[in-house]
Amino acid sequence: MDHANIDKDAVLYNLLTPLPRGYNISECLTCGACSSRCTWFDGEGGPLPRQIIRMAAMGLDEHLVNSHMLWDCLICNRCTQACPMGITMDKVVTKARSLAIADEKIPHDIKKGIQNRLELGDVNALTREEFVETVEWVSEEFADEMADPRAEIPHDIKGAKLLYLPNPRELGASLLHLTAMAKLFYATKESWTLSARHTDVTNWGYFVGKDDVIRQMALMVVEPAEELGIETLVLSECGHGYHVLKYLLETIIGRKPGFEVISIPEFILRYAKKGVLKFDPGTHPYKIAYHDPCNISRKSGGYDAPRELLALVCQGVVELTPNREDAICCGGGGGLLQNSTSNGKRMITGKPKADQMRATGLTHLATACLSCKRQLGELSDHFKLGIAVETVAALASESLIL
Ligand code: SF4
Ligand code: SF4
Repeated sequence: MDHANIDKDAVLYNLLTPLPRGYNISECLTCGACSSRCTWFDGEGGPLPRQIIRMAAMGLDEHLVNSHMLWDCLICNRCTQACPMGITMDKVVTKARSLAIADEKIPHDIKKGIQNRLELGDVNALTREEFVETVEWVSEEFADEMADPRAEIPHDIKGAKLLYLPNPRELGASLLHLTAMAKLFYATKESWTLSARHTDVTNWGYFVGKDDVIRQMALMVVEPAEELGIETLVLSECGHGYHVLKYLLETIIGRKPGFEVISIPEFILRYAKKGVLKFDPGTHPYKIAYHDPCNISRKSGGYDAPRELLALVCQGVVELTPNREDAICCGGGGGLLQNSTSNGKRMITGKPKADQMRATGLTHLATACLSCKRQLGELSDHFKLGIAVETVAALASESLIL
């Protein structure tokens, strides 16, 4: 870095330093332990975590905002695990992304998705009318598939016990995933519903670190759910959606929501433990491992439920190494997957993951995030790994005994 004036009046420095542990950039020891843990850095020229923190601590806001590192960082927090001072990379990077001078650097697709979500309730600009039309059509197909006219995909049912919050992909490219989840709800015999008022488990406000947007998007989920009077909000498989709506929700909205929040794998496991849902693991008789989504595992501690469920619905489950808190990011985190201009870059960020998949000798890989699933599937194709990728909940639906 060239000579630069240290500016302790810098906006980012003053934004971060009053905040609690995790934002404590001024305590950085410059030890570099973080840089040794970044798998992107191990790849080809990715972010240098120590440099990001030093730029923030030295008041070099403009250098940081103009650096490729700000949007290259996967905010996976693998580097954070090694930091002796507890400085947390996703907190620092997302706050830097939220600076007014960083606004024009926000990738167009993410800006557009946020605008769609705030104006229409859905990142892909699906209107309420289109949502209802799609769900009712899929519901008819589902009743035919189940050969039971009472089998349905209900929406906007006041007083239903469960509200399923789908991933936007489930109303588009992954409609079959929605049907697979409907089969599981059907088998529990519980009352459940979707809501046309908030079709989307994602919260892209998290990618840009804007607290007001994060809160607004969270309330777009919470308030209609409370009006429906549900007991449990069941989240579709989405990494950052889980982190925001399960792990951070009370902090974001400043109160407890009027319902419990669990993910769909946690929900399925609960009903399996009650003996309500039963599975035939012989449906999947092959070598399969679980990929930890960074947002669910390392950042929220949700390591066990997807693993327990996978062991119930598949034979031959093995572990990737490293895993859990040391897991390697799929390479699509931090908004990279949502930014279509980064498609080529994602094959570089994902190379360490692809190497790990190949070294484990897998034929199949499971995960609990539809974004990870897409990235891992593209890695398998790009690196010719021949590994089929599926979500844990979809595998559970396939092996369900009705
Ligand atoms: S958060 Fe992940 S991608 Fe970003 S610097 Fe740390 S290890 Fe690297
Ligand atoms: S590991 Fe923590 S203390 Fe060490 S350089 Fe990185 S941010 Fe600074």
